[in-house]
Amino acid sequence: MLELTSPAVLKSLLARHGFHFSKSLGQNFLLDKNVLDEIVHAAGIDTDSEVLEIGPGFGTLTQALCSAAGKVAAIEIDSAALPVLEETCAPFDNLTVIHGDVLKLDLKSLIAEQFSGHTVKVAANLPYYITSPILTMLIENELPIQSITVMVQKEVADRLCAAPGGKEYGVLSVAVQFYCTAQTVCIVPPESFMPPPSVDSAVVHLTLRNTPAVEVPDRALFFRVVRAAFALRRKTLLNSLTGSGLLGLSKELIAYALDEAQIAPNRRGETLSLEEFAKLCEIFFKIKEDFKG
Ligand code: SAM
Repeated sequence: MLELTSPAVLKSLLARHGFHFSKSLGQNFLLDKNVLDEIVHAAGIDTDSEVLEIGPGFGTLTQALCSAAGKVAAIEIDSAALPVLEETCAPFDNLTVIHGDVLKLDLKSLIAEQFSGHTVKVAANLPYYITSPILTMLIENELPIQSITVMVQKEVADRLCAAPGGKEYGVLSVAVQFYCTAQTVCIVPPESFMPPPSVDSAVVHLTLRNTPAVEVPDRALFFRVVRAAFALRRKTLLNSLTGSGLLGLSKELIAYALDEAQIAPNRRGETLSLEEFAKLCEIFFKIKEDFKG
């Protein structure tokens, strides 16, 4: 099997295939064997595991996944990487490569077809330019996904795992923690990649919850409240919820809702826990129902 974590091996392979890195596709290839092992270990992959990989590239992580898992399906957008991948992963008969854009594919059907409807583990060194849309798509669509173990920019990892009160805590933190538990596995420096990205990276492990962290009467309204609370970060919660215009309610009604939820109007959005967002959502939901009635 080709040792893809060796820069010399990788360079000669790529030269032979006439492959050029595409910055616009977020191509930073992993060279660190320990990090590959950390991903496989954190994802809890064993021979019973069925794994969906996003962006296999030349197959560095794919080889590690195929060696440990029962079955792997990998989605790659770049047609130029496919012949390289075919060569590097030739020893594995438990791999299916799908050529396509992960954001445009129907993942529900794809998982049903590739894994007979079983629950999958997602593992990837993500293309950073679409980290948020990929994560949002994976967690919000009730797909049969058990966990997501992915390399992201460290700054994104900090946001995914942030607790209320800090500057990293925002819409992405609430959205991810609503659906998942999140933990950082390890920090990865730029030198672990070819070409090196300009920032530190981190592996995060998200475990999908069976039911969301908090109960809400209307999920769309819940996320509207969250977006409204963070819309004007330097303003008080009352001004952000009002000024964002996302709720379509008067300042008086918003002040009333905050009072009912026992949340001080001069707090900032980033100090609210998921439970407090849920409480607020419940009150706004009742107000809207009363208006309808
Ligand atoms: N897995 C390889 C590794 O760890 O070395 C490559 C990771 S690289 C950071 C990201 C990969 O995602 C690239 O191979 C890139 O071509 C692919 N990619 C970028 N956008 C994509 C998309 N929308 N759908 C599927 N793959 C994509």
